[in-house]
Amino acid sequence: MSQRKRIVVVGAGWAGLGAADRLVRQNYDVTLLEASPYPGGLVAGWKTNTGRSVEGGIHGFWYPYQNIFKLVEELELSPFTPFTRSSQYSPEGLEVESPLFQKEFRLPAPLGTFFYTQFKRLPLSDRLSALPLLYSVIDFDNSHEAWQRYDKITARELFRQFGVTSRLYRDAFEPMLLVGLFAPGEQCSAAATLGMLYYFILAHQPDFDVVWCRGTVGEKIFRPWVEKLSKQGGKVLVNKRVSDLILDEDGQAKGVVCGLEVFPADAVIFAVSVTGMKKIVLGSPKLHQYPEFRNLANLGGIDALATRLWFDRKIEIPHPSNACFGFDRAVGWTFFDLNALHDEYQNEPGSVIEVDFYHANPLLPLSDREIVAKIQRDLTSCVPAFQDAKVLHSTVIRVRQGVTHFAPGSYQYFLPSQSPIENVFLSGDWIVTRHGSWSQEKAYVTGLEAANRVIERFKMGEKAPIIPIEEDEPHIKIARSINKNIREWGERILPDLWLS
Ligand SMILES: Cc1cc2nc3c(=O)[nH]c(=O)nc-3n(C[C@H](O)[C@H](O)[C@H](O)COP(=O)(O)OP(=O)(O)OC[C@H]3O[C@@H](n4cnc5c(N)ncnc54)[C@H](O)[C@@H]3O)c2cc1C
Repeated sequence: MSQRKRIVVVGAGWAGLGAADRLVRQNYDVTLLEASPYPGGLVAGWKTNTGRSVEGGIHGFWYPYQNIFKLVEELELSPFTPFTRSSQYSPEGLEVESPLFQKEFRLPAPLGTFFYTQFKRLPLSDRLSALPLLYSVIDFDNSHEAWQRYDKITARELFRQFGVTSRLYRDAFEPMLLVGLFAPGEQCSAAATLGMLYYFILAHQPDFDVVWCRGTVGEKIFRPWVEKLSKQGGKVLVNKRVSDLILDEDGQAKGVVCGLEVFPADAVIFAVSVTGMKKIVLGSPKLHQYPEFRNLANLGGIDALATRLWFDRKIEIPHPSNACFGFDRAVGWTFFDLNALHDEYQNEPGSVIEVDFYHANPLLPLSDREIVAKIQRDLTSCVPAFQDAKVLHSTVIRVRQGVTHFAPGSYQYFLPSQSPIENVFLSGDWIVTRHGSWSQEKAYVTGLEAANRVIERFKMGEKAPIIPIEEDEPHIKIARSINKNIREWGERILPDLWLS
């Protein structure tokens, strides 16, 4: 009889594929079940029936995404553009240009971010009002205690408490929150805000440098990855929506229910979004029994909108990636020059532009035609040449509740990779990890962490080596250590009276 352990992974985004890949390489019998017709999750890409490539939003890969960069190297792929510069626009026009931070003389973090970013309008006095906030950057060290301390207040409240001016908040921090955490400041946990800002912007000067895929991530990374996985014996099955688990008399998972089929399992890894997991729990009398799973009902997802427009002429756009703010209340958006980023559109006679909206709730009811008309108006505010161009084709993809909402007070309900069922593990960009990464890199890392838990459980195979995020710079380490000592000393001598 075969000794190979049967592992069922549910969901084929970065987390699920990461977990499945590691376990297939360690000779486990892996079945990956994906509800949609394509692997990739939020990053899936496909062709429309007119043969045009589309995806559920353009995805950047920031400088610290070292585990993903290592993976594509192992897969012998070269999917990425060089590092690109970016701009920020408001209805008044160009607001900010970012340099390639790694090309500038390296200053102790976060000085480079403040010094080299080219603000076109934001007065220096407003920018300087961010300085006191550095205390909370030092104080938030991504530990469980720090999350508990900062998760209870909103980002808006944090910035107000530290004296950030309303102009700096409106023109710099809120736009970053809308594209980084997909929600406005009053709806973001201060803990998630500090974690995200530190990871992408503040920890090391080059962290904000970004590369993009030279086509859809689905085509450039997921397709060859899934092919390799299948060649090595992994089974990747699409159009398989999982609805429940089967437990044995000891309360261990022994199978996964998918429609009328049951997939036997020695261990299960869930790699679905918060919204996906809530739906599974809702329909599962087994998972209902656990308060940890029931409490997921306290978490939420956020809407996004991904659109692609083919214009009748080439429009000169200064930088390939652009973030925009101040157009609709509490909605963030970005636009990308795909002629500059995607091989496929390099020689296209007209501009191909991706426009993605985050926290797009108020836009989803609009018809496709209304959305395209709005986009052309907004693009024109940023780059006036869009005014006279004609839209020849367009695609509109609504991503309902797809993105994790890091709401104030949500940390207590996010789950770690070990679920309350001993042989069921969890992964995805909402799972608690001390790694410190965010978004795609976090999803991939939590997939590897879940695979490592399986390897630990069965004592078969070698765990995935996970590249930690770059260490804090020496001055940050010293400041954090002093702060920690003062905090511990204070906690010892002061009575614990206040609501923390
Ligand atoms: C518009 C947009 C832009 C973004 N931009 C960036 C960016 O620039 N950089 C970045 O790093 N991140 C970005 N992100 C975030 C990034 O997409 C996510 O962090 C990451 O893809 C999450 O991966 P995941 O594997 O955790 O989950 P997902 O990608 O959500 O994958 C979960 C999978 O589970 C499947 N599933 C759900 N329920 C079931 C079920 N019952 N049975 C079987 N399968 C199921 C789903 O179909 C899906 O394929 C963006 C997201 C959006 C929406």
